[in-house]
Parts: sequence; structure tokens; C-alpha cells
Amino acid sequence: FVSTHDIIVMEDTKLFKYIIIGGGIAGVTCAEQLIDEDSSILLLSATDFVKTVTNVQFVTKTLEYFDVQESSLNILASRCPNVTVVKSYVNYLDSKNKIINSTNGLFKYEKLCICSGATPKVIFPKNPNVLWIRDTESVRKFRKRIANAKRIVIVGNGGIATELVYELSGVEVIWAIKDKTINAVFIDGGAAAFLKSSLEKEKANEEHISKRRKYTVNFSEGENNDALGGALGPDWHLGLEIKSDKHRKVTIESQVQIKALYSPEEFENRKTDNTDQNITLKEKWPIYVELTNGNIYGCDFIVSATGVIPNTEVFLKDNNFELGKDGGLLVNDRMETSISNIYAAGDVCSAGWNVAHHWFQYRLWTQARQMGAYAAKCMWASLSHEEIYMDFCFEMFAHVTKFMGYKVILLGLFNGQKLNKKYEILLRTTKDKEYIKCVMVDGKMQGAILIGETDLEETFENLILNQMDLSSYGEDLLDPSVDIEDYFD
Ligand code: FAD
Repeated sequence: FVSTHDIIVMEDTKLFKYIIIGGGIAGVTCAEQLIDEDSSILLLSATDFVKTVTNVQFVTKTLEYFDVQESSLNILASRCPNVTVVKSYVNYLDSKNKIINSTNGLFKYEKLCICSGATPKVIFPKNPNVLWIRDTESVRKFRKRIANAKRIVIVGNGGIATELVYELSGVEVIWAIKDKTINAVFIDGGAAAFLKSSLEKEKANEEHISKRRKYTVNFSEGENNDALGGALGPDWHLGLEIKSDKHRKVTIESQVQIKALYSPEEFENRKTDNTDQNITLKEKWPIYVELTNGNIYGCDFIVSATGVIPNTEVFLKDNNFELGKDGGLLVNDRMETSISNIYAAGDVCSAGWNVAHHWFQYRLWTQARQMGAYAAKCMWASLSHEEIYMDFCFEMFAHVTKFMGYKVILLGLFNGQKLNKKYEILLRTTKDKEYIKCVMVDGKMQGAILIGETDLEETFENLILNQMDLSSYGEDLLDPSVDIEDYFD
């Protein structure tokens, strides 16, 4: 613990106009956007590499695809000559004196942007048989363990768990979810049923039909990778090529949580009635998982994919930041935290402004990029006394991803968020081809889920943004013989 009094400001404490903490997508985008050549900008990255975004392509006004690359600090510095990039872990923030204490010494700022991301909420984090997926190092550990595994238990029902279950073959997977249906963090039961059939198929030798670009997991064996790396980008699971066997064997245990974990010794000592019911228990396993429904599974290891917690701890010592309900640094519509001259962006922050009706925060890399860019603009505007307006991307939630081999586009209040269950649903689905769901209130579109190659994203985005009254179309809106793009583009 370093108290404020331990900080001795040396005369050579370097002053920067802007300091950004974090080499993830939010921090790097923020640094890149601060294009003011006269500014001194410092980016502090806890690791030897940073995440950079390239080849940005706008699909619609709010939807975008981009590549994510891992670059060395030098590459970023050479691309942005006015940015000094230093590998350094920040261990204390003295907000009163605007000083940062890091493993590389003290730095003083005029404006600070915290982009320190989030860490996985891991169940039983100290158990060596519980793994998680967050960064390149965690993927390395996972690959090592999965190579010889026969059965694993995956806990969690978000994007990471869903993609992992889909990607794995040649290993038995027990998927423990707390909801009724799979991937409930993102999609409803209908869409889940549509996607679930993919799990029953053999894994295709697919050249991933991905609109999202390949992300390279780049590390060398034996390298010290213990530092806190940035969260992975899309397609982190590609190249996991675990087994040549294409057969998926997935058992879904729904509406359960983990009740207890047992080591082989603990399990031996445990007298349980369940033993006879579960034949798999006759084999010896490195760890045993008891679920709240009473089922017990032995497995090689467990993957905990149960969400993230904003990385705020270091910054909270002696600093009275206001926090959001989810523990992030609360920011206003200028990305400012409650402490003056300190901004935050990406997974570490909680949107605390009066957000647009069709937008909400989701800790996704698109939003990390958008917030990083907007925070840069806000810091610059504050120092230059310029007026700026909130970026258009915060008008409507928009996300494109891929689940179980399908392109998935989520627009607006796609799951009826904020609508208090007072909405109607229009649905069109063709098995193995497409799933289209519109969330409607009083004939106006509030959100949509588009799975498959529907080509409806632009039209639906417009309909959500302009709130056109579509009552007269009724269910014809999704009639495949009606070319709605022509009507509304
Ligand atoms: P991060 O990328 O986590 O970066 C934080 C940075 O801060 C890191 O470089 C870290 O080293 C640094 N740092 C932290 N503390 C300190 C400190 N004290 N001092 C110095 N540096 C510090 N999102 C999607 O949209 N689509 C997906 O398909 C998707 N898949 C994902 C798959 C996985 C496995 C994971 C883990 C996440 C996924 N996400 C996905 C979420 C997405 O990756 C994150 O929302 C996004 O990367 C957050 O960016 P960030 O810059 O805020 O944080």
C-alpha cells in the first residue's frame, strides 16, 4: 500500500497533457484519436503489447466490423509520433496532485483517461482446476490443459461460453447454465433453440464464415505472461484446433449453479446417494463438480465464463470515485468520472448519463472503441474549450458477432430490454437458415435480432432510429415475399 504521503514529487516528474492507462482497445483508440500534434500524450500499458484496431468497415451507421491486432509498443509509438508508450503498471493514483505512481516512476497529468478494462468473475479462483478465458495467457493455459482432456465443465451463459462450447470437439462438454436456455445473456429462447441445433451437428471443416476478422494469439512458450493482458478480441477461439475428432458431445445442464467442487480425496470421503445414479463417477477425475440440481460430474477441469468485474481496485485507494451499480467508474456524458480531470472508457467504466432509449452499455469491444474515441474528443474539447456533441453511436445499441457459425446482429432493445415486458414480437424463422425477430411497441420497431445472412440490418436500423409507425404492415413486415428493404431504405 502506498499512501499519498509516500509520493515524493521529484523535479523530474514528467508532466503530460494527457495520460491514458491501459493498452486495450479503449486505451489505444483514445491515444490514437488525440491527434493534436502539440500535445504530450503518455500511454501506460501493463504488458509488452497493445491491441490495435484496423480495417474498420461501417456496415450501417451504427454497425461496424474491424480487425483486432496485437502490436508491440514500438509499433504503436511509430504510428502515433506524439504518443509516448511505456510498459508500466499503475499501482497508485494521487488524484489531488494529479500524479500517477507506476512501476516506471511518477507521471503527472493534466487529463487522465482510465481504460484498465475488466477481469473475469471467476468461481473458485484459487482452485488450480478452474480456468478462465480472458487474454492470450489464459488461452495458452487452456490449450495446454485441453490437449489431454476427456471431459470438461463449462460454467456461464454468455458469448465466451457459447463460442467455446461450439468450437470444442473431441472432448465431452458439460455446459452448466443458470438460465433456461443457452446464450441467454444475448438472445431469447427462440433464437437459442435455432442455434442449438448447430451443436448436434458434426463440426464442419469450415473456413470460418466470419465477418469478424482473425485475431492472432501471439505469444511464445515460456515467456513471462503473468502481467495483466487486455481482453481478447473476436475470433479468439480460432486456432484452438484442439482435437482432430469433429464430433461434439455436449450435455446442457440448465437452471443450475455450481454447489461445490471436490478433489478426488474429498470425493472419496464423501458418502453420496448420487453415486449410483451417475455412471461417470466410476472413473477417476482430477476434480468433481456438484450442481445445484444434485448432479455430480467428474471432469479434467472447469472453465469459468461467468462475466467480468471492472478493474478499478488500484484506483480506488484514497480516491472517492462514484461507482456504477456494476462496480465500474461512473462516467457522465462527457466520459468524466466523479473526480475532476479523470475520464474513463471501455470495460472499466459504467455509463452514468441519461442514455438514449435504444442504447445501453454492454462490455463489448465495439463499445470499448467507441468510448475510447469519444473520451479522447471530450478531453481535447475540455482543454480547448470547444463544444462537442455526443457521438451518434450512442443513439442505438448495435452489435455484430458470430454464434455457432451464424452471423448474429443485435439492434436496439433486441431482447425487450427497458420495455417492462410490454412489447410484441414479430418472428420469421427458417430452420438452419435464418432467425429474424422484431420487438415492436405500438407498431414501432424497438429492437431486432437477425441471425443468418438476412441483409436486413440497414433497413431495421433505420426503422428503429426513425420510429416510423409500421402498424399498417402488421405481420407483413416479415413476409418473405415482401421486399421491405425497398419500402424503407
Ligand atoms: P481491455 O482490453 O481489458 O484492456 C485493459 C488494459 O488495461 C490492458 O491492457 C491491461 O493490461 C491494462 N491495465 C489494467 N490495469 C492496469 C494498471 N493498473 N496499469 C496499467 N495497465 C493496466 N467483445 C466483443 O465485442 N465481441 C466478442 O466477440 C468478444 N469476445 C470476447 C472474448 C473473450 C475471451 C473476452 C475475454 C472478451 C470478449 N469480448 C468481446 C469483450 C471485449 O474483448 C472487451 O469488452 C474489450 O476488449 C474491452 O476493452 P478495454 O480496452 O476496455 O479493456
